[in-house]
Amino acid sequence: MSVTQEIKNRLDIVDVISETVQLRKSGRTYSGFCPFHANTRTPAFHVFPDTQTWHCFGACSEGGDLFNFVMKQEGLDFKEALVKLADRAGVTLDQPGAGSQKKKAAYQKQADLLAAAADYFHQLFLHAPQAKNARRYVDGRVLNQETIAAYKIGFALNSWDACRTHFNGQGYSDQELVEVGLLTENPDKGTRYDRFRNRLLIPIRDLDGRVVGFGARALEPDGIPKYLNSPQTNLFDKSSLLYGLDMAKRHIREARQVVIVEGYMDVMQAWQAGFRNVVAQMGTALTERQLTQLKRYTKRFVLALDADAAGMKATMRGLQVARETLDRTDEVKFDARGLVRHEGRLQADIRIVTLPDGNDPDKIIREDAAAWPKLLAQAKPVAAYVIGVMTADLDPQDAKGKTAVAQQVIPLIKDIEDPVERDHYWQELARVLGVDERALRQVKLPQKRASVRRRPSAQSSASPGQFRPPMPPPPPDFPPNGDEMGVRPTGRRPRGRIRSNLRQANYLRQCLAFPRALAQVNHKLKQHGQTAVSEADFDQTEDKILLRQIQEKTTDGSVVTIEELCDSLDDILLSRVQSLLTLPPTPESERDRLADSLVLSVLNWRKEKIVKQVTEQNKLLKEARTSGDLEAVAFYQQQLREMSRNLLEIDRARDAMSAVSRRRAEET
Ligand SMILES: [Zn+2]
Repeated sequence: MSVTQEIKNRLDIVDVISETVQLRKSGRTYSGFCPFHANTRTPAFHVFPDTQTWHCFGACSEGGDLFNFVMKQEGLDFKEALVKLADRAGVTLDQPGAGSQKKKAAYQKQADLLAAAADYFHQLFLHAPQAKNARRYVDGRVLNQETIAAYKIGFALNSWDACRTHFNGQGYSDQELVEVGLLTENPDKGTRYDRFRNRLLIPIRDLDGRVVGFGARALEPDGIPKYLNSPQTNLFDKSSLLYGLDMAKRHIREARQVVIVEGYMDVMQAWQAGFRNVVAQMGTALTERQLTQLKRYTKRFVLALDADAAGMKATMRGLQVARETLDRTDEVKFDARGLVRHEGRLQADIRIVTLPDGNDPDKIIREDAAAWPKLLAQAKPVAAYVIGVMTADLDPQDAKGKTAVAQQVIPLIKDIEDPVERDHYWQELARVLGVDERALRQVKLPQKRASVRRRPSAQSSASPGQFRPPMPPPPPDFPPNGDEMGVRPTGRRPRGRIRSNLRQANYLRQCLAFPRALAQVNHKLKQHGQTAVSEADFDQTEDKILLRQIQEKTTDGSVVTIEELCDSLDDILLSRVQSLLTLPPTPESERDRLADSLVLSVLNWRKEKIVKQVTEQNKLLKEARTSGDLEAVAFYQQQLREMSRNLLEIDRARDAMSAVSRRRAEET
């Protein structure tokens, strides 16, 4: 993944922009006053969370992604914006040249060491006499040989230096062992010793199946802590990993659902019983990065959390905190509202299933595998779950208690995107509280939180373990995994965007290969009453910059080769060019039709964009009408007229283009 993509994955454009622009939510998008032009009363500036882009429908009619927003807002160049946002996202920028090669090699060496360590611990588990207890423990969990091998279960000897000695013998230094978390260092005493001793070792692999760390379970009943993980290292970042995802991802796609559990054993047990769409979080509350990753495979999440699990506790704690401090704070950390918002913004379906008291998935499946799917089928939507929990021990005579429950649940209901679903929960809450729905709708909330987006503090964006409002899935590196664009499992919604993205990418790719196409395309566009391709046509800042570079190189008369172009680009743009070059160039036989097909492609993506904008403006127009804001109504009507004019012109140009190509086809 490119660095810019990584940054975009970690940051949410809505969070970043809302720090300087006051945004109001309307449906799936946000609007506000444009910071780049003098404003009337009408909010013409829009942020689209699902594409992570922004656009101004007003005087400047500019738009783009996170990067060019920050560039414009703070007057930075691309590089400066990159450094700033990388820092904020906690992404390390590679130093160009030899440095990054060295770093890559070091990274590889660490990965090799961890893979070797997984083998070492696995062999000990299988064969060492000292591992008898470990084997007995696993036997007790009725895990079979196949499962043990698939997850490479291991064992660490009860020794302060067995692992160290073993890997020192293989040429690894203490320092290297410390860096991957196999050795623990006590800087005060200057001592180093094996981190994992007399524990069951479970290798934790990343999405690509590389071992990045270990989870280690104590084998003695009073072993403390019960679970010991690898420390945070270059490779091991708990907040972005999900245990078992490397093996489960294919099955998540097939099952169109992911089940999120608490423990390693739960994942293994489920796998062994044939339930393979199961992953585990690792002792932290579910993070945004984890959910974003999962979103690539499915939109249906089922959280199957132990009754006493940290995650569920955190959810309810969030509500408790809200109850206690409702007047004092507008911050609710990882809580049910976070999940509901997440649901809305990800267009996901998040459900929660409560496991019977004292049971975990491991135990349930071991005792009766058939019970598992039945249990999952009972998973409840977040709002229903919370209403259930909040009202479970509410005294029907306790009027104040009812108000307190209502005050906590109502914001949650208001956050639900779908109007029918929202209405359903108003009724549901009225029913369980035994009050009139109209009364509920008049309950005064201590704060008007429904329309106020919380601002992430510097701390919340920096600490990875914390739940923040989610962001949409990243656009895939194209072509997505080398696949056709249609195979993206996460569904219908982003397809238009992917198509647009691919069209934009393909346009640049062909211009790289055939720079003369650039002028030809612009000429044809002008013939059909359209403007030349400009930076405004592109969504990604890298692409905007690339287009400018290609244009500059071609208009000053020099014939641009890819090599020449690359010489003038810095590393980030270079990696964009490299990924563009993975798209196929136009074959010789179709070369004379290249300009025509690029023109059509440009027209298509322009049309897609405007269609989407029309939807947004229509929504706002409706709102403005409802609120009787005549000035806004006039503005949006004017915008819509202009857009439909543009659409008409695009359609005319498309028709003319297809007529041309038809004629040509007939002539030949
Ligand atoms: Zn503007």
